[in-house]
Amino acid sequence: MQKNNFPELREGVRQVVTAFDSRYWQEVDEARAFPEKFVTALTEAGWLAGLIPEAYGGSDLSLTEASVVMEEINRAGGNSGACHGQMYVMGCIVRHGSDKQKQDLLPRIARGEIRMQSMAVTEPSTGSDTTQLKTTAVRKGDRYVINGQKVWTSRLQHSDYMLLLARTTPLAEVKKKSEGLSVFLVDLREAVGKSITVRPIRNMVNHETNEIFIDKLEVPVENRIGEEGKGLKYILDGLNAERILIAAECIGDGYWFTDKASTYAKERIVFDRPIGQNQGIQFPIARAFVNVEAASLMRYRACEMFDAGINCGAEANMSKLLAADASWEAANVCLQTHGGFGFAAEYDIERKFRETRLYQVAPISTNMILSYVGEHVLGMPRSY
Ligand SMILES: Cc1cc2nc3c(=O)[nH]c(=O)nc-3n(C[C@H](O)[C@H](O)[C@H](O)COP(=O)(O)OP(=O)(O)OC[C@H]3O[C@@H](n4cnc5c(N)ncnc54)[C@H](O)[C@@H]3O)c2cc1C
Repeated sequence: MQKNNFPELREGVRQVVTAFDSRYWQEVDEARAFPEKFVTALTEAGWLAGLIPEAYGGSDLSLTEASVVMEEINRAGGNSGACHGQMYVMGCIVRHGSDKQKQDLLPRIARGEIRMQSMAVTEPSTGSDTTQLKTTAVRKGDRYVINGQKVWTSRLQHSDYMLLLARTTPLAEVKKKSEGLSVFLVDLREAVGKSITVRPIRNMVNHETNEIFIDKLEVPVENRIGEEGKGLKYILDGLNAERILIAAECIGDGYWFTDKASTYAKERIVFDRPIGQNQGIQFPIARAFVNVEAASLMRYRACEMFDAGINCGAEANMSKLLAADASWEAANVCLQTHGGFGFAAEYDIERKFRETRLYQVAPISTNMILSYVGEHVLGMPRSY
């Protein structure tokens, strides 16, 4: 089975994540608390620095291996949503940052001294239409002054730095609407409570995410990542890795749900026989498992291409879509298999059900992926 490849890597991650049992996750979920001990343990074990190059103190894992790390976290019943930003947000610095930025930030992230797991792109009034974002950064001498608003900025309260996308050239003055946006490194320790006001959003899952109001935030020019005006390209460059890692989380969830459902189906006796003896229970679990396996194959295909430096935009998107669908199907089947008990918090199913539902919407919604495939793979007209 694919789920058993990379045995040593899986065992290493499992040793850390299985210390955080069902009770731990139920407690943080009920308290709506950040799973601080869990994130610290993963950081200290070095797993969240997997994609940082060795030269900067990371372990230089391939994306294939990094995907297995995320899969194992979710497969063990955990929620990578609390920490996946630490794995991939810094990728923008690795690919486009200056030597100074790399030397300053990457070793400290790898050592766990600082967290940079927050990325502010989405805005309330523009949503998926990123090129229309309203947050502006205006250069004044050696600084940029940033004003605007972001929404769904996740893990900000547990980050020291975040990346922020803002418009540096007005839309009316650029040739292509994707130009004129820039990425900035924001020191949250200086800005929050002064030029950044944070309003946490209570949401369906225990996910630390916020609306933020930015008022005359001053960022030194040296905190701009790469060239002015090319920020959207830099953000898009990182999306393939992000999509594949999120696909892996979904696959981990999918295995968790199908393991849990098949175990319960073997044990639960109703009408004098295990419920799993009924094909009405058995087949949906088997079908969900088949779909998780298929999604996992697409994930490995996308990883293989990414690791070989081959453009994998289509495969990354398709693996995210297939994996999010497979985990959601598995979640539904698992809940159904457990009958009423599926709704009881102590079984963890309703929590994981909520958590895995998010992947149909964030970080990219299913429709946007279908639109990508329709346009870029099948050559149909652009729909937006
Ligand atoms: C818990 C959570 C955490 C998040 N974390 C972050 C974060 O850390 N940083 C960040 O920047 N963002 C984050 N997001 C935002 C997330 O990326 C967006 O919610 C997502 O991209 C969809 O954007 P939207 O919510 O504005 O939906 P909208 O763009 O308003 O779209 C609403 C619906 O309409 C569909 N739709 C829109 N246009 C079209 C079209 N042309 N064709 C077909 N369908 C269309 C969309 O697919 C979606 O289903 C997070 C969101 C959530 C819920």
